[in-house]
Amino acid sequence: MNGLDSLLCLSARIGRNPLLVQASSGNTSLKLDGTLWIKASGRWLAFADREEILVPVELSECLECLRRNAPLPPHNGNGWPAHLRPSIETFMHAVLPHRVVLHVHSINTIAWAVRADAPLRLTEKLSGLRWQWIPYTFSGIPLARAIEAASTGDPAANVFVLGNHGLVVCGDDCDSAQALLTEVERRLEIPPRMAAEVDSHPFDQMAYCSDWRRPEVDALQALGRDVISKRIMDGGVLYPCQAIFLGPTLPRVPSATQFNEINGSSPVVVVDGDGVFTKKSITAAEWATLNGFAEVVRRIEPSAPIRYLTDHEVTSVMGVEGHHYRMSAENQMSAIAN
Ligand SMILES: [Zn+2]
Repeated sequence: MNGLDSLLCLSARIGRNPLLVQASSGNTSLKLDGTLWIKASGRWLAFADREEILVPVELSECLECLRRNAPLPPHNGNGWPAHLRPSIETFMHAVLPHRVVLHVHSINTIAWAVRADAPLRLTEKLSGLRWQWIPYTFSGIPLARAIEAASTGDPAANVFVLGNHGLVVCGDDCDSAQALLTEVERRLEIPPRMAAEVDSHPFDQMAYCSDWRRPEVDALQALGRDVISKRIMDGGVLYPCQAIFLGPTLPRVPSATQFNEINGSSPVVVVDGDGVFTKKSITAAEWATLNGFAEVVRRIEPSAPIRYLTDHEVTSVMGVEGHHYRMSAENQMSAIAN
């Protein structure tokens, strides 16, 4: 199997693990003969073995664009299908010296990476690995520059934990990168809090007749039933995809009989002490992000000091780039459904 085939197989495996990737999040790359093969924006890693998800970018041109603080041109010498454009994180992949780079929105990593004391806690957890902490910064050129600085400071570093964001692991080939990802995941694993059982509510029946339903997913129901999870949610936005796909706050009502008080287009509502309801029209990207969010929240320790995104950061990630990111993630799923 050549390098690209290996990357596509690995990408599909990673993409189908909801503890690593949700919707179109995460991206993978391979450097081959001066070309950086990078996941296209909005593509789902989960479909790497059946959809076109990679685009070729000339590595030297990419690094030159970064040096000039310029965006990648729409086409370079290699060219790529007009409907695909390189991931917003292409520069981050380009600056890393390793052949294979995997960026995932690991649930366990994020549950650590939203903590104000993450660098200290991770020093203990990742002892012996060549890892670097990257404080939260915006995707694209700012994140690439932060990674480049960390990598220059320790050229052997092959694990980067991104504050309020996720994880990057690197390797000389797909096997070594995958093995390192597995090892980091093993070390950062956190057992989730379980949701309290709630007797079937009479509203459930009504919900099935309306636009709403109660998903039979423990992690989701814990958002409404677990007081610790509710407190964590109330504090603010933990990471960008939460805000981009679910909005800065999830609508909350004190009782399921007050659904008619919910306005707006949110695909989800939290009923205090009861659980979570989702709209029947919830999209695949919203659903994947919601489940990922619930899994992160129930892995954050009750006493954890949390570093939420600032208002400025939330506003920025929900701007134009966030809108495009969201739309392209939805579009790929519509194309597959059709
Ligand atoms: Zn990311």
